[in-house]
Amino acid sequence: MGKGSVQVTTPCDYLIRADWCLTQDDERTIIEDAAIAVAEGRVLALGPWDEVAPGLDPAEILDMRPGLALPGLINAHCHAAMTVFRGLADDLPLMPWLTEHIWPVEARLTPEMVGMGARLACAEMLRTGTTCFADMYFLHAETARAVQDAGMRAVLCEGVLNFPTPSYATPEAAFAIVEQMLDVYADAELIDVGMAHHAVYTNTRELLERGRDLAAEHGLPWMIHLAETEHETRDCLDATGMRPLAWLDSLDCLGPRSVLVHCVDLDDTEIARLAETGANVAHCPQSNMKLANGFCPAQKMLDAGIAVALGTDGAASNNDLNMVAEMATAALVQKVHRADPTVLPAKDVLDMATRGGADALGRPDLGRLVPGNPADLVVMDLSQPNMQPVHSPVSQVVYAATGLETRLTMVAGRPAFLDGEYPVLKNSGLDRASLLEDARRARDWVRKNP
Ligand SMILES: [Zn+2]
Repeated sequence: MGKGSVQVTTPCDYLIRADWCLTQDDERTIIEDAAIAVAEGRVLALGPWDEVAPGLDPAEILDMRPGLALPGLINAHCHAAMTVFRGLADDLPLMPWLTEHIWPVEARLTPEMVGMGARLACAEMLRTGTTCFADMYFLHAETARAVQDAGMRAVLCEGVLNFPTPSYATPEAAFAIVEQMLDVYADAELIDVGMAHHAVYTNTRELLERGRDLAAEHGLPWMIHLAETEHETRDCLDATGMRPLAWLDSLDCLGPRSVLVHCVDLDDTEIARLAETGANVAHCPQSNMKLANGFCPAQKMLDAGIAVALGTDGAASNNDLNMVAEMATAALVQKVHRADPTVLPAKDVLDMATRGGADALGRPDLGRLVPGNPADLVVMDLSQPNMQPVHSPVSQVVYAATGLETRLTMVAGRPAFLDGEYPVLKNSGLDRASLLEDARRARDWVRKNP
């Protein structure tokens, strides 16, 4: 720069510095001594600090060294408010667990309980590096408020079952609720709306077809628990003469907007057909393991070209909403299942938890840190003993981290979790103490409503 000339700098809201940045862009670029500039909720620029930082005029510098930045994790399937049932009924098979323990108390859920559970869920997910989740549940006005109070991002999918839920007396009303949500959240920055059916065994043909049409009309993600157990397959064969995937296929319910959760009981022919349809899978390994439902053939699906995302499922069947733990589990259980340590390597699991989730939920602008994309990102603390030394930053995130190394969780350019605090939640008049008080009240309510 010549003597006397004026250096032009670009203003930005935040300039983040970290030792490593896993961009998860198409080349999976990893930047050392990284600068990430954030402006107006988006990634403005990123690259090596020495190249990027000098041209910027940040309102605030977040020096997160020693730290490792990556895109915010995307929980492709959960039931956020079920945190109120965490630990309520463990170590049971799926159907007795659902019909004898979860459904009876769930039927009595109040809006207040859903709000408390969802706020606790948001706090847990932000604490462990998740910026966006897809929720299949009821009473979504409460979950939406919790999401906005916490400064998180969510895809809210009203769950359709062929019996009354806390949201509706007849399942047909669910579709009006989805249309109403589309209206209410049309301009909500942090909330997308989706369509969900609980499962083939809790939905009639008419309900599935109606949901399919509504999702197609509005271009919504269409989510369903599918092929979760062999028991489900046998019941579906008895009821329809077809296995669950073939049943949905015969109803023209499979396509690029479909998100099929679990997919444990699928054979090779079904995997090939699933790939042809372009449907996505949400793999929830800890839930499958805890309920002993079997092994999702995740590596076979990836080999077939199927887009596989990762989810925690609800806190009653996991029992946490920690996507970092879910990544390690996904990799480890697949290796045991296949008796092959080379399957589902760390880089593929990280893809599932970032880009895979974003694509499954119809948000390819999430899950990768690229200029112009929403600034949804996480920085992990590398000063923790379990995070040193760093030979492979990807391996560190998937195998060494616990999730509690998270120092910063930024959503849409705003720090929603920073060094133990929840700045957005605080602005909403809430704090850690009020979350704990809510959790105690939720426990008392559940005890009174068995
Ligand atoms: Zn689920």
